[in-house]
Amino acid sequence: MARRKLVAGNWKMNGSRAALTELDAIAQAAATRPGVDVAVALPATLIAPAAERAPALSIGAEDVHAADHGAHTGCISAAMVKEAGARFSIVGHSERRADQGETDADVKAKAEALHRHGLHAIVCVGETLDEREAGHAEAVVTAQIAGSLPDGASGDWCSIAYEPVWAIGTGRTPTADDVAAMHGAIRAKLRELIGGEADRLRILYGGSVTPDNARELLHVADVDGALVGGASLTAAKFVPVIAAAR
Ligand code: PEP
Repeated sequence: MARRKLVAGNWKMNGSRAALTELDAIAQAAATRPGVDVAVALPATLIAPAAERAPALSIGAEDVHAADHGAHTGCISAAMVKEAGARFSIVGHSERRADQGETDADVKAKAEALHRHGLHAIVCVGETLDEREAGHAEAVVTAQIAGSLPDGASGDWCSIAYEPVWAIGTGRTPTADDVAAMHGAIRAKLRELIGGEADRLRILYGGSVTPDNARELLHVADVDGALVGGASLTAAKFVPVIAAAR
């Protein structure tokens, strides 16, 4: 089945209002490539000004709380990011799983909160280097899928991002064959869990995607796009990644 490619940026804890000028060229690149969906996840403080500056671009959050409101100091809900102009959020990024101890159940609840508010969820999974070297990568990732996939997951509002932890921000990437094998295993797990709907979910690859390797990685079987950290911070690097998706 043909799935539209999705290229999503993740600025992490980087950027400022001044840096939002980068979105102008990114929005222009998105507008001239109607076959590719382009999205940028930003720190919460930048969502509203970014959505105002680039209304045609899909602006999102990097995380949300699973609850709609309440006594959760420092957290932000799906409804709040939606009001600020977000159309999606990343959930379960490995940095949050590691730094904040988020579990699969937490990630699932966050994705379901996004759906309640009409937002798209990008659910991240990925193995550590130790897990890959021990030969457990597929078992770890498919277990994360089983635990993190929101109830009723549909391609209309949910995507998966496979991000090997050892490839994030390191300049290292798996081989195209390894990516194909993992994306195939994820698709098979999704079929087991949600049947034919599995073919409508996009599975993004993330981890050291750059203008140099994007063409190869984005055209591996079952790779439906990319989640891009460092190379999404400037239009000079992100626009060629978007261009490589076609
Ligand atoms: C990420 O943080 O999701 C990511 C893929 O980062 P980078 O592209 O910098 O490896």
